Amino acid sequence: MVSAESQIEFLQKIQTLFEDSSFSATYKYALLITLTNLAIELGNDKEKELTIPSNRIATRFSELYWPQIKEYSSGKNVGVLNQNNGTQAKIISILLDVQRATGLERFSDVTAHSIWTRKLNSIVSTIWQNPIFYLQEDENQFIYKYSNNKSLTLSKEAHLCLRKFSEYIIQYAKNGWMTHLKTNAKNQQILNSDSDLESFLFGASRDTLIQLRPLLMDYQDGRCFYCSRNISQNSKADVDHFIPWKKYSRNIAENLVLTCPSCNRSKSDMLAGIAHLENWMFNAATNVQRNNDIHHLGFLSDLECNKRIASWAYHNAAIANSNAWVMQKQYEPINQKYLILFE
Ligand SMILES: [Zn+2]
Repeated sequence: MVSAESQIEFLQKIQTLFEDSSFSATYKYALLITLTNLAIELGNDKEKELTIPSNRIATRFSELYWPQIKEYSSGKNVGVLNQNNGTQAKIISILLDVQRATGLERFSDVTAHSIWTRKLNSIVSTIWQNPIFYLQEDENQFIYKYSNNKSLTLSKEAHLCLRKFSEYIIQYAKNGWMTHLKTNAKNQQILNSDSDLESFLFGASRDTLIQLRPLLMDYQDGRCFYCSRNISQNSKADVDHFIPWKKYSRNIAENLVLTCPSCNRSKSDMLAGIAHLENWMFNAATNVQRNNDIHHLGFLSDLECNKRIASWAYHNAAIANSNAWVMQKQYEPINQKYLILFE
């Protein structure tokens, strides 16, 4: 059993680690976000250690940097942002090589390309030589242990706390990452103060989703996923993340549904009520054809991963006594009857 005291202690150590400014690259932020995501995607609530293969870490780590190898434009100046105070971070040059060699834009296509297996080794060694080694002090391995570069093992405290406090840890890491880039003298030519850096670095959730409207309209017979109102005449129908983007910021096919703008606005960052959850689990999230079609438009599709995310999100919400959104101005507590759906 991981006590409340040791959870607080874990968070305090994470906070101290963020305050340590001796890091010259953005790697530590990327590594923490990666491990948090993988604790959600591969982990469980059993309060045990969790071993993660190094290839999974390298792939998820690269997925974070992939949008950032693009040139950033602030109107006047254009360039690839420097992720390190010295020479450019090695992960950027590796990914730029991959991009040049394949000409691919989408990360999901890159990982399916034969070049990826070859590049993974050098990405693993970059991560193992650098952030894995420096993130925590060697004599205080409170997040993970590792003996070689095949895998690492999250401590049971880290496994639990990264899942439980993911929103806080990821936002904290993103803020640190942005500050690091802004204070790097080499980036000051490229960045300007009012630029929308966050959506460039970590993906704007909305813009790329609009292209899914016709396809989802078809699959949902022109109706809002939540209130069933006819939205086929409404050119403003929204693509909604069933498990809110704020809780899990990655566009997975299974997690996307089409809604009327008022349901989308009203649901906002909440989890949906049990009737919606059942409807989603038996339709949208499990319709293989639908999710393949979305995948072919360049989105990830991963049924197993998506199930784990949904289970994680609702279990977390139940522990926190959160309410679910039923419809406009109607909410209900997330309780045991939600959780048995995941058994
Ligand atoms: Zn609606």
